[in-house]
Amino acid sequence: MPCYRCGTRQSDPDRGPSPWQRGVVAEHLVLVCPACQRQAGWADALTACGRCGSRRLVRRLDQVECLDCRMTRDAAPDTPEPPSGPVLANTVLADEVARALDRVLRRE
Ligand SMILES: [Zn+2]
Ligand SMILES: [Zn+2]
Repeated sequence: MPCYRCGTRQSDPDRGPSPWQRGVVAEHLVLVCPACQRQAGWADALTACGRCGSRRLVRRLDQVECLDCRMTRDAAPDTPEPPSGPVLANTVLADEVARALDRVLRRE
């Protein structure tokens, strides 16, 4: 995942903790590279924890967790996503069934 501010890609991780900072912006997990962390106000755009004000939040599945006070909350629902695989497959299947029926009915 690239840095959300400058788009730099994370280089091969060295051993030990990553210098990249995780955070949440618009309910999505983002990474901030070490260079951007040296700029003033770099964390202002990150979502702050509602309990302790920390901006060290991470998104896990459908929850947002604060790494400092461990508070978790449900993430706000995303904007509607395009239909996922199974829904699409069902639609295609229904289409095929309809077409097959059509052929059968026309033959009679
Ligand atoms: Zn950056
Ligand atoms: Zn917190």
